[in-house]
Amino acid sequence: MIEDKNQQRTPLSSLGEFGLIDHLTKEFKITHKSTVKGIGDDAAILNFDNKQIVVTTDLLVEGVHFDLSYMPLKHLGYKSVMVNLSDVYAMNANSTQITVSIAVSNRFPLEALEELYEGIETASRIYGVDVIGGDTTSSTSGLLISVTAIGEANAEDIVERSGAKPNDLLVVTGDLGGAYLGLQVLEREKEVFKVNPNNQPDLDKYAYIVERQLKPEARKDIVKLLKDLEVKPTSMIDISDGLSSEIMHLCKHSKVGCDLYENKIPLDPQVISTCEEFDIDSTTVALNGGEDYELLMTISQEDFPKIKANPNLTVIGFMTDESVGMHLVTRAETKIPITAQGWNSLSDQE
Ligand code: ADP
Ligand code: MG
Repeated sequence: MIEDKNQQRTPLSSLGEFGLIDHLTKEFKITHKSTVKGIGDDAAILNFDNKQIVVTTDLLVEGVHFDLSYMPLKHLGYKSVMVNLSDVYAMNANSTQITVSIAVSNRFPLEALEELYEGIETASRIYGVDVIGGDTTSSTSGLLISVTAIGEANAEDIVERSGAKPNDLLVVTGDLGGAYLGLQVLEREKEVFKVNPNNQPDLDKYAYIVERQLKPEARKDIVKLLKDLEVKPTSMIDISDGLSSEIMHLCKHSKVGCDLYENKIPLDPQVISTCEEFDIDSTTVALNGGEDYELLMTISQEDFPKIKANPNLTVIGFMTDESVGMHLVTRAETKIPITAQGWNSLSDQE
């Protein structure tokens, strides 16, 4: 579906490993004082003085986490950075550095990796992180990308999954379900394209949800917003696997229960209309569709006045005693238990 825009196809073997690394990383600039030494030695050198450091890593595998028939490489580079930064922000920390490791087969020309690195460069520039290293190796089949993100925070600012208390409010940023539905649209267009390659898809009407899938944004802004509002969440997690599975993580780690209100779940109008078109329930999509990279947090009731007018933050429920369990309170005001249905890379789902 995505046309091969690379007219030129320079084989990777023509550069050699070191030439390739130099070529791909020459644009990266160091912006943080904490980066003492970036790319170029056996290891990077960092100095954070007396801050606490958070480290997180994600591995993305072609055919499992992404499909290059509709994922442009530039977007893939961008997204592979976002999924990691999202985990840093979920700790209420600031992201400072990343490393990027790739395994690549010789079916990829240099121009493909240039595109991938363009996305990585754009993401690191916009989000203000230094690319300080990585590894480059060959793969016999597809493309693998592993990004490690490093962040810093004052010890007292870090928010874990484990601090929620009964009566705390459950709050989510942005809106949910878009990334999953964007994927459904792209999968459908891929099938159409297989049958008729001349059929150019018209994705305008799905622009928002397709962008949510292909070019998610990690919520760096929320870390700043919470600081400005003087709100420290009692617990926080990013939404990579779907709302229900993230709620279960917060409840399990915090030893609390939860009442989630169906009618409070924030949905974009395009999510609602696309759910109608695909004949799927929008609540199911919000609960079980993943990859929205929004933040889910709990805050103390006392902080409610500080957040209530903010369009980025929606109260969707409250925490209860652990013994009460986790429930969805439906529009019809019936209570149904929340079960694990989140996207699980180890389950044999389609
Ligand atoms: P080593 O043999 O010690 O692992 P490399 O030759 O693999 O060293 O790497 C040289 C330098 O380039 C190191 O600083 C490393 O972190 C960096 N580097 C290697 N591959 C990548 C990559 N794909 N992206 C960014 N930096 C990389
Ligand atoms: Mg190496």
